Amino acid sequence: MSNSEFQRKLISVVIPCLNEEEVIEVTYQRLIDTLCSVPATEFEWIFVDDGSRDRTPSILRGLQTADPRVRVVLLSRNFGHQMAVTAGVEHAAGDAVVLIDADLQDPPETILEMLSQWRSGADVAYGSRIDRAGETAFKRWTARIFYRAINRIADTAIPLDTGDFRLMDRKVVNALLELPERDRFIRGMVAWLGFRQRPVHYRRAARAGGQTKYPLRKMVRFALDGILSFSIMPLRLATWFGFATASLAILAITYALFVRLLTSAWVPGWTFLLIAVCSIGGVQLLCLGMVGEYIGRIYGEAKRRPLYVVRERLGFATSGLSRTRRRRLAV
Ligand code: UDP
Ligand code: MG
Repeated sequence: MSNSEFQRKLISVVIPCLNEEEVIEVTYQRLIDTLCSVPATEFEWIFVDDGSRDRTPSILRGLQTADPRVRVVLLSRNFGHQMAVTAGVEHAAGDAVVLIDADLQDPPETILEMLSQWRSGADVAYGSRIDRAGETAFKRWTARIFYRAINRIADTAIPLDTGDFRLMDRKVVNALLELPERDRFIRGMVAWLGFRQRPVHYRRAARAGGQTKYPLRKMVRFALDGILSFSIMPLRLATWFGFATASLAILAITYALFVRLLTSAWVPGWTFLLIAVCSIGGVQLLCLGMVGEYIGRIYGEAKRRPLYVVRERLGFATSGLSRTRRRRLAV
């Protein structure tokens, strides 16, 4: 891509926010300070409010009034991080779209390097964490194990220690928006898409303020979405459990018949029986649960509900109305 071609590019920065009143203004200022020096590149800042209950929406309104490049999508309730990101991406008009958290854990300076990767031909420049400061040892360890586990069992290679912090070219964004699934594991979906993807290494900082919006419950749910959307390994595991218990059962039956018919030593072996009943029952319930997880997700997909509901949009009137996505959204 030649330099002059690059100069006319619009970059959309998507920032999902849930109760981020402490940090939003700081984040906005850091983004402006860091990126406005990029020569002749235009930016639009798309803040998605994911049903905050604090002053986040009114702060965003203020930012929008002061800066016409700020666009705000207010969702009707909390739809979750991945949905908020999806909403932002769907509203973006840029030639490239950057995803970044609102809490400054992902340093805006890294975007500069993502931009230069993009300029030199990468379709996706994804942030790869070499260090996670300010996060609990528990979070660091669970994340570490999770990313390695999912790579062993998933059908798609998902880069290690990579979150949603990334830059995507318009063609990747359009392809991403063609994936309609509800259980969205965006970092995996982008990996699945292919294209030329390059890592940009960075140190994950501590939150600039406020608390994490990912309690353990949401982390587990997110990890499950990742595994179940990218692998049928758990279903296969159920089959293997089935084989293993069936083989054991054949051995046990043979043994029982042998003892019953050919020896006089048979006694009511309730210990053995109890163990057999409990273990087989346990394995069956486990397998049923695994199947159920997938069926539940199929049910969710079958309802075909929209992924999120917008309460209000601010700042879109002045922006690239002709862009395809926005036309589709009738913004
Ligand atoms: N977030 C959101 N909806 C949610 C949870 C989180 O929009 O239901 C946003 C949050 O405001 C932040 C980003 O997603 O900008 C990442 O969340 P957080 O920093 O709490 O997660 P962590 O970095 O602790 O994993
Ligand atoms: Mg964070």
